[in-house]
Amino acid sequence: MAAMTSTASAAGPGPRPLLNRRLAEFGTTIFAEMSALALRTGSINLGQGFPDTDGPEAVREAAVRALRDGRGNQYPPGPGIPELRTAVADHQRRRYGLECDPDTEVLVTAGATEAIAAALLALVEPGDEVIALEPYYDSYAACIAMAGGTRVPVTLRPAPRPDGAAPDGAAPGDADGAAAPRGFRLDLDELRDAVTKRTRLLLLNTPHNPTGTVLTHAELAEIARLAVEHDLLVVTDEVYEHLVYDGARHIPLATFPGMRERTVTISSAGKTFSFTGWKVGWVTAAAELVTAVRSAKQFLTYVSSGPFQYAAAEALALPDSYFDGLRRDLQAGRDLLSAGLSEAGFEVYRPSATYFITTDIRPLGESDGFAFCRALPERIGVVAIPNAVFYDHRHEGAPFVRFAFCKRPEVLREAAERLLKLRNG
Ligand code: PMP
Ligand code: GLN
Repeated sequence: MAAMTSTASAAGPGPRPLLNRRLAEFGTTIFAEMSALALRTGSINLGQGFPDTDGPEAVREAAVRALRDGRGNQYPPGPGIPELRTAVADHQRRRYGLECDPDTEVLVTAGATEAIAAALLALVEPGDEVIALEPYYDSYAACIAMAGGTRVPVTLRPAPRPDGAAPDGAAPGDADGAAAPRGFRLDLDELRDAVTKRTRLLLLNTPHNPTGTVLTHAELAEIARLAVEHDLLVVTDEVYEHLVYDGARHIPLATFPGMRERTVTISSAGKTFSFTGWKVGWVTAAAELVTAVRSAKQFLTYVSSGPFQYAAAEALALPDSYFDGLRRDLQAGRDLLSAGLSEAGFEVYRPSATYFITTDIRPLGESDGFAFCRALPERIGVVAIPNAVFYDHRHEGAPFVRFAFCKRPEVLREAAERLLKLRNG
């Protein structure tokens, strides 16, 4: 599967298809397809995850200043500007107690997307198995394929609901006392069973898109134990690290025993500062891993986003009140849209994190998320994403549909009103 909607089949001059066989199964990304559909139909776009208001004015001004002052208008240094590498290292220390040398253990990339691609291209040999949590973010499958690896999905599934409880009710607490919300959970036995002699790498995403799941301390500890036992590398995509709600806590896997030297940690400025178009991302890892990832990265973009790197460095130094405010606003958006979706008849898996709410459409008498999302703009003027595109086991994802709540309250209220028409016919 994967997160694409059509398969390129254009033949070249001979019988051989133009597109190489590694990419043959990937057509246009669902995000492009659905955003185009939103434009064409004038719908509210709750598909592609981007905020409809820009981030802090001070950060935008920092980019303008850099442009005007001629900072970053020519190629920045290959590993990224020192100011940003230092800001990333400070952030990792301040937030998580992780020490990184800004000179050797931080690499700036063109968004998390390039970091993911470079990490996989650098660390995976053809034939290596890469375990990824399914549903997975769309670029994972394509990057594993480009690296010649074999993806091995481990499926997150809705936790069984205690009898009679509301769909978004909380589950019992985690081993470390934190309440684990009911939602999509990882089956650690399934993960253990997925590891073979050919497994090279675990590709993790926590907080998780599209389910909004945040892996708990207990789950991460077990993943770390498994990685050490089988001598696996881990790439963790943590772009939603600051977008966690209800007191949930994001814990980088690199903080667990034995993980610092085998984990490539990836994040980016897009979600944290609401500038998804700037594409400033970064990798933190042990020096040998950063060197390996840089070997691939230097031939992808070499460098990118010069002036925006200066702005991202200033953004990372914003006070805690900024991060608290972002969380508060997004949580309010989540609550608003969750209520609207529940009222409209969806089963809502209330997310602990990210921009997204995953719903089950079966209570509406529907079962095919693809058909549902393709029809939704014409029916009620709302665009959403069928989660099935994030699955190899498409049947597992068929009834799930993702809605983005990173929009202004008035937009979410209007969307909720439109969604209600589904129930009222
Ligand atoms: N990983 C995940 C899980 C995402 O949802 C996204 C999309 N924002 C990315 C990576 C890509 O991040 P960026 O825009 O920084 O490339
Ligand atoms: N990460 C965003 C999402 O999941 C989309 C990014 C993209 O368009 N590739 O909606």
